[in-house]
Amino acid sequence: MYSPTIQKLINLFSKFPTIGPRTAARFVFYLLRQPAEETQELLAVIANLKEKIRLCDSCFKSFEPPAEASEGKLCEICRNPRRDKTTICLVEKETDLIPIEKTKKYQGLYFVLGGRVSALKKTDFKKLRTDKFLERIKNSEISEIIIALNPTTEGEVTFLYLERKLKPLNIKITRLGRGLPVGGELEYADEETLSSALESRK
Ligand SMILES: [Zn+2]
Repeated sequence: MYSPTIQKLINLFSKFPTIGPRTAARFVFYLLRQPAEETQELLAVIANLKEKIRLCDSCFKSFEPPAEASEGKLCEICRNPRRDKTTICLVEKETDLIPIEKTKKYQGLYFVLGGRVSALKKTDFKKLRTDKFLERIKNSEISEIIIALNPTTEGEVTFLYLERKLKPLNIKITRLGRGLPVGGELEYADEETLSSALESRK
């Protein structure tokens, strides 16, 4: 079997999303083949990650505060005065936000729900930042909430849950429209498909 150190690293890499033990082992042997400087650089970036990256106080997207504004609490999107403050787009995770942003068709704000409703368990819903979101839009200028969840069964169930929570607010709720492949993940959708899904929201 693998030596204890190699096995330990394989176990750690195996915890990464979508990475199984075989891919994890490939990572480890790749690292072993690299010159020491390469692994040092990797270590330094990882060591800095938690320190340099913050979660936005308003939308929970991660961001790196510019050096001159090290106390900043808002991400570059929430700080941008040109963004439309009346529309907010709810996404499950940051990797779903990026492709929407790339379409350049959306000028509003975001909110990252976090967590993931996987096995449709009640406890999964508790992991979503639903209460934080309700607080966020209380006394705000928001007049439309776009729910942009994955077009999967889990996404559908989450949508129904959110709709129930948000209805009493009397704010217009829309969701992405046609074109998104059923069962697919938002983060893999191409820009054109996402653009038309945004435009055809209802
Ligand atoms: Zn933000």
